[in-house]
Amino acid sequence: IIAISHLNKWFGDFHVLKDINMTVAKGEKVVVCGPSGSGKSTLIRCINRLETHQEGKIFVNGIELTNDVKRIDQVRREVGMLFQNFNLFPHMTVLENLTVSPVWIRKMPLAQARELAFQYLERVKIPDLAHKYPNQCSGGQQQRIAIARCLCMNPKVMLFDEPTSALDPEMIKEVLDVMTDLAKSGMTMICVTHEMGFARTVADRVVFMDGGEIVEENDPENFFTNPQYDRTVTFLSQVI
Ligand code: ATP
Ligand code: MG
Repeated sequence: IIAISHLNKWFGDFHVLKDINMTVAKGEKVVVCGPSGSGKSTLIRCINRLETHQEGKIFVNGIELTNDVKRIDQVRREVGMLFQNFNLFPHMTVLENLTVSPVWIRKMPLAQARELAFQYLERVKIPDLAHKYPNQCSGGQQQRIAIARCLCMNPKVMLFDEPTSALDPEMIKEVLDVMTDLAKSGMTMICVTHEMGFARTVADRVVFMDGGEIVEENDPENFFTNPQYDRTVTFLSQVI
């Protein structure tokens, strides 16, 4: 469902992504890890065109990402993105956060959008927060609201950029549980995270980046027990 070939990107003179090749099949769960500054966020932001690339090709669900605004919109409709800091609309209630895109982008009747919103709030286990504002919710709750908001758009792929790194330890589990549940439901997921327990249990594949390159990728079992490169070994010794 995602095919990236010979992707190169520069920020000015800085070569941030170096010849990235990666494919993700429907239903696959890929965890991306690597040291700070290795290009993980930039890579996943390229997948829904929050960043532009200079060389190579990115296909999402058969659509090539180019400067064509129509295609970018088409791709963004199918790709949900979760950020470290939740990015909820602060002036809207939780329910409004969940219904705004289905109503305005998908042209769904409001009553139906509300029904859907409640369905997903149930699924992330916070139906009672529907009429609160984001700042009245905990970090873990806000991230689950953000996940529910994504799901209301019925995405084909979900991208996560360190969704738990801004959370207090006791809230990390509730978000990882929702993500694990989502993985089991068959969602295609690319997840930048340092939660190696999550990677071990949920990922089909772990991709390790360093210095803008994919250094190593493997199934979690082999990745953790038998890393092939010194850079991977060093990284793992720091995060586990
Ligand atoms: P972290 O684990 O800290 O989130 P990361 O692997 O996600 O790191 P990126 O955010 O992708 O790393 O950044 C990769 C490199 O590109 C970093 O050196 C960063 O300083 C640089 N960079 C990121 N965004 C920009 C930008 N808009 N302009 C210039 N340089 C940038
Ligand atoms: Mg990052």
